[in-house]
Amino acid sequence: MDYVGKMFRPPSEADSLLLQVTVGCSWNRCTYCMMYRDVDQAFRVKPWDKVAADLDEAAAVPFAIRRVFLCDGDALVLSTDKLATILEAIRNRLPQVRRVGIYGDARSILRKSVADLTALRELGLGIVYHGVESGDDETLRRIDKGSTAAEAVEAAARLREAGIRHSVIVMLGIGGVERTREHAEATADLLTAMDPPYVGALTTTVVPGSPLADAEAVGEFTLPDPWGMLAELEILVDRASLGRCTFHANHASNYLPLRLNLPTDREQGLAMLREALRRRDSSLLIPESWRGL
Ligand code: SF4
Repeated sequence: MDYVGKMFRPPSEADSLLLQVTVGCSWNRCTYCMMYRDVDQAFRVKPWDKVAADLDEAAAVPFAIRRVFLCDGDALVLSTDKLATILEAIRNRLPQVRRVGIYGDARSILRKSVADLTALRELGLGIVYHGVESGDDETLRRIDKGSTAAEAVEAAARLREAGIRHSVIVMLGIGGVERTREHAEATADLLTAMDPPYVGALTTTVVPGSPLADAEAVGEFTLPDPWGMLAELEILVDRASLGRCTFHANHASNYLPLRLNLPTDREQGLAMLREALRRRDSSLLIPESWRGL
């Protein structure tokens, strides 16, 4: 496969064929993100002949490929026509594929109409992974997310109308100590308004060299400690009202792995979180050295 730079994908796409259709991220400004900052990762659309050659290579493997994930960072930014061409080619060359996933953000989702998204769903696009990070507009402004909570709600409605599953990612700690409560409460309210079927809560890590690390170095950002992160998680689980949601806080970055079916498991999850917060026993947490980023 013709991969430029390091490939990133959601944990649930671990068994998927990673098909790189764009390089980098067209936004590339979020202050905490260093995924696509290398020189060779400047945003561009992969030439069709490279994508087609990758599909030919995948079609030759001696096992059935069931899932494909389109990389890189916000591949949904591609035009509907380009994405339709890619999805049709996947369908023709890999007929056993059951679902295609992609990263998108509020900007790329809202650039497409419900009719566009429906057409992409009919061609196999099954799930969009969307890092909303926070429901607090002040936090979103500080991290230069480039979209607002209201736009995330609109994006969720559009995907739902088009019949595309929506997996939403939020970041514990991204508001810093200063906005920890505002961030957690507004994020819970945002999740309520979006009501997605999947939520992943990641724990913020300050990556060396990132603008967020620069802010931390001059005292403009302070990451909550592990207990502060868990307190935010408790607010999310307690306050968000979700219809039927698989809620994951078991990413490698998290201190206390949690997987809940909400609302059914709410009380069980809250009891676990509150007990951990009451005991404040570090041995209950994943050791810092084991946490992946
Ligand atoms: S949109 Fe995603 S990939 Fe792009 S800079 Fe922000 S977090 Fe990174």
